[in-house]
Amino acid sequence: MTKGTVAIVGAGLVGCVAALAFEKKGYKVLLFESRPDCRSPDQIAKYSFRSINLAVSARGIETLRFIDDKLAEKVLANVLPMHARMVHDLKGNQVSQDYGLNGEAINSIDRAYLNRLLLDEVDIKNNIKTYYNHKLVASDFEAEGGRVMLTFEHEGKPIIFEVDSLVGADGAYSTTRKHLQRNVRMNFSQDYIDHAYLELYIPPNPASVSNEDKWSISPNHLHIWPRHAFMLIALANLDGSFTSTMFAPWKCFEELDSDDKIIGFFEQNFPDALKLMGKDTILNSFHQNPRGSLVSTKCNPYNLAGKCIIIGDAAHSMVPFYGQGMNCGFEDVRVLINILEKNEFNIQQTYDEYSMTRNKDLLSIIDLSMNNYTEMRHSVVSNTYLLRKKIDGILARVFKNKWLPLYTMVSFRPDIMYSEAVRRETRQKAIVRSIVNLVQNSAIIGLVLIASRLTRSTIISKFLS
Ligand code: FAD
Repeated sequence: MTKGTVAIVGAGLVGCVAALAFEKKGYKVLLFESRPDCRSPDQIAKYSFRSINLAVSARGIETLRFIDDKLAEKVLANVLPMHARMVHDLKGNQVSQDYGLNGEAINSIDRAYLNRLLLDEVDIKNNIKTYYNHKLVASDFEAEGGRVMLTFEHEGKPIIFEVDSLVGADGAYSTTRKHLQRNVRMNFSQDYIDHAYLELYIPPNPASVSNEDKWSISPNHLHIWPRHAFMLIALANLDGSFTSTMFAPWKCFEELDSDDKIIGFFEQNFPDALKLMGKDTILNSFHQNPRGSLVSTKCNPYNLAGKCIIIGDAAHSMVPFYGQGMNCGFEDVRVLINILEKNEFNIQQTYDEYSMTRNKDLLSIIDLSMNNYTEMRHSVVSNTYLLRKKIDGILARVFKNKWLPLYTMVSFRPDIMYSEAVRRETRQKAIVRSIVNLVQNSAIIGLVLIASRLTRSTIISKFLS
């Protein structure tokens, strides 16, 4: 006996995880995807020239474990742990900044590989049936018998399904959300930032002679080239290559309108990355890859009674600078299913409670992600920022669990909800700021008094060494 039929729209990363979680709890799941199966040979051939990765961290892994330990192990067997960020300056110097206090890591994984792995997992579940090339076009939440009637477009024709509940995991431009908005007084806002992104590529080390040296730079770092108004990042792939992404204002991309300007821009701003990528690879990426926009979406509530709920990017797309979009979407599933169990599978009560309690956490991570852009492209090279980080780390070591750096709470502590992390950070930040002011003021007074010729950075290192 199943507990009812749930339709999940979107077989992306979050939709697949939601399908596995509902199935595990005894529901019959119909999983709909507007695109073809990404494992089909023509789809693999179509995307084989690009390897796009993302960072999976503790919240994502915790959810995979919640579904099945073996699934989490399969995912972790194909990641490259990144224990620190590597900051590249204009001269090509590299400085490593640890992410965690105890060697914790976020993990680079191939996005397509992860999606295929999750679909393979979905395939072996008898109670999940997947429909590709089925695009949700209409939802009737008042169908007979209290059911939900969904219309999909399939090979140019409408096709109708009736289910007990609809879970929208159909991404940032969610159709489910639009349907929900017609039936619910939903507060909604969407903010585009004035920056775009472009995917670039660093090939495997051409001089490689063994498996160990196939990467030209460290595979266990998230590489950043912060240049204040714009930046470049790179995450390693298992084959020795790196997926790199350039983030910059739209205007900056528009001005790079010739090959000479593109190469000139890299010579001036990212000379070491230019060497790693090669001119032809850079130009190919600029010519072939689209510029992506970056959008934050906030809304509430996320549900219509027990009939429909949205999760993942459909409910909260965020700019990618905290590496939390997917991790947070996975966490949505774990939080939702925990509430469902607590409410003894009363779906309406569960969706209502989820909407009420989850909103503050989602707003927190959306805002944190936005703020982290400034940190990554600008602050990471400022002396004050480095001093704050150092003090933050010292206090965390002294006070153990009572003091945790924000990055640790967000990326490595799934037991601390996002809003709680922000609450704790607000208090900690005020304390760190006072200490920094004290250190800087004493340094200035010290400088005047002893008329020393020490530079500011040596003072800082003296204080903290
Ligand atoms: P999606 O991945 O968008 O999947 C939605 C699915 O729904 C798609 O398959 C789509 O085809 C399908 N669909 C859409 N409409 C319909 C319809 N009408 N009918 C049927 N199916 C439909 N997150 C991290 O956690 N770590 C990172 O390091 C990270 N890096 C990122 C880097 C960049 C440059 C960007 C842009 C994002 C990054 N993210 C990262 C965010 C992450 O990609 C998203 O949060 C995640 O993909 C959201 O998954 P989702 O399943 O909710 O939505």
